[in-house]
Order: sequence, then C-alpha cells, then structure tokens
Amino acid sequence: MPQSHHRESHDREPRGRVAVVTGAGRGIGAATARRLARDGLAVAVVDLDAGEARRTADAITADGGRATALGADVTDAELVEAAVARITGELGAPTVLVNNAGIIRDDLLFRMSEADWDAVVGVHLKGAFLMTRAVQKHMVEAGFGRIVNLSSTSALGNRGQANYAAAKAGVQGFTKTLAIELGRFGVTANAVAPGLVATDMTRATARRLGMSWDDFVARSVEDIPVGRPGAPEDIANAVSFFVGEAAGYVSGQVLYVAGGPTV
Ligand code: NAP
Repeated sequence: MPQSHHRESHDREPRGRVAVVTGAGRGIGAATARRLARDGLAVAVVDLDAGEARRTADAITADGGRATALGADVTDAELVEAAVARITGELGAPTVLVNNAGIIRDDLLFRMSEADWDAVVGVHLKGAFLMTRAVQKHMVEAGFGRIVNLSSTSALGNRGQANYAAAKAGVQGFTKTLAIELGRFGVTANAVAPGLVATDMTRATARRLGMSWDDFVARSVEDIPVGRPGAPEDIANAVSFFVGEAAGYVSGQVLYVAGGPTV
C-alpha cells in the first residue's frame, strides 16, 4: 500500500527532510527528485514548466512519497523567493537543495550570440546563486544542509560550448565557496559532473550535429570506458550519496560521473 511504503521510507535516514530540486520536470532532475523521495525526503519539484513539474510530483505521490510541484524560473529573484516561501509553507523548511535546472545554446564561439551567452550563464550560475541564497537561511537555522550542484565534464572544455563550459566550471568554484562559507553551519556543498547522459538535452545535441541518436551514442561510447551512455538514475544515485546524513564530512568536492576517468 502506498501509505505504508511512505511510512517505511520515512523511518530511514534522512527522514522527513525537505528537498528542493530545480529543473525536475524531466531528465536528471526528475530522476533525482524521485530518488530523493524514495530516500525518505519530501520533495519540491521546481521547473520552468509547471505541467512537467506536476507530472514528476504526481509520480512521487503515486509511489507513496511526499511532493509538491512549482512552476518557477530560477533566474528570477522574486519568483525564487516566492517559490521557497511556498515550499516552506507546504512541505516545511527546505534543508536540501539540488541546483539542476539547465539549458544549452551551443555554437562555435565566432557565431555565438550575446543572448546565447547570457541565457546559459544566467540559468546555471545566476539560477544556482538565487536558489542557494533563498534556501541557505533555512539550512543555517536548522544547523544542517546539503547543497548539490550539477556541473558537467564540459567544465573541462568542449567544442561548441564556450558558454556552457564557462558556466559549468563556474558552478565548481561556486560550490567550493559555499562549502567554505557554510560548513560551520552543518551545511555541505558538492558538485556532480556528469558525462553523457541520455536526456532531451543530449538528444537535442545529436540533432544539432545532424546525427541520429543511435549514431551519436555509438560515436560517444568509443570514449566511455564502461561502454554506454549514463542514465538519469546514474546521476541521481550520486546526488543521493551527497545528500545522505552519512556524507557530512564530504564537502567542496566535484564528483565526475562519466563512466570512466576524466582528463
Ligand atoms: P533536460 O532534460 O533538458 O532538463 C532540464 C530541465 O531544466 C528542464 O525540465 C527545464 O525546464 C529546466 N529548466 C531550464 N531552464 C530553467 C529555468 N530557468 N528555471 C527552472 N527550470 C529550468 O536536461 P538534463 O540533461 O536532465 O540536465 C540536467 C542538468 O544536468 C543540467 O544542469 C545539465 O547542464 C546537467 N548535465 C547534463 C548532462 C547530460 O548529458 N544530459 C551532462 C552533464 C551535465 P523545461 O522543461 O520547462 O524546459
């Protein structure tokens, strides 16, 4: 029965905590929201598209978990503050934050527009900043917090992604600074940096390169030691580790989850 499943998962650690996952309408964010709910957390599913957020939240509820859905643009400070206030009212004060919302606007540097630069840096960097600033006060008050930011192997440099690579490298510096500033309040901050993961984002990349998904995967896995693309759940598992009560002495780290070592 869903309700007894819910009670059981609440008996496990980290019991009863409230997590916010951004960009959780689909892809890695949706898998992470579902995973954290199975870990026993109540989850606020935040997405640009309220309908997609609702779908993820409904899936969690159907599975016996506790979730609420919110449509919000993480680059808008007022919407972010309002979303965190609503989450606090509906689920309780959030002490876990996964900054996952992301976009790509790939192009070679000489063709990259200012708008494409601003959009990508805005969602990944300003979005993570605004969400973290809004949620950290609850973490400090609770003397506990877990922040997990999505970086990428592209932080090491990737053709056609000057904007995205800069943003994802920026996420790493942001994460380490949060770890330094907030550690004394029981808050850890870590980054997960995925390699190729099968989502709408990477399907769009295949299309941009004029390749079928299968051809794109076949070419990509030549450089992936485990010989397959990642699934959103692979990334959710890594986030779950950082969020766990047992990871309290792990902070300021970047974990590459890419099916092999990265250079
Ligand atoms: P995805 O399938 O495109 O999902 C991204 C989600 O973020 C979408 O639901 C999107 O909402 C939401 N979003 C975009 N802008 C937003 C905003 N301003 N405010 C709130 N939500 C917003 O992408 P994904 O592949 O799951 O990627 C998730 C994260 O992992 C991103 O940070 C990405 O950069 C990172 N990552 C992905 C890969 C990969 O191979 N897939 C590799 C490394 C890193 P809408 O549905 O409304 O558009």
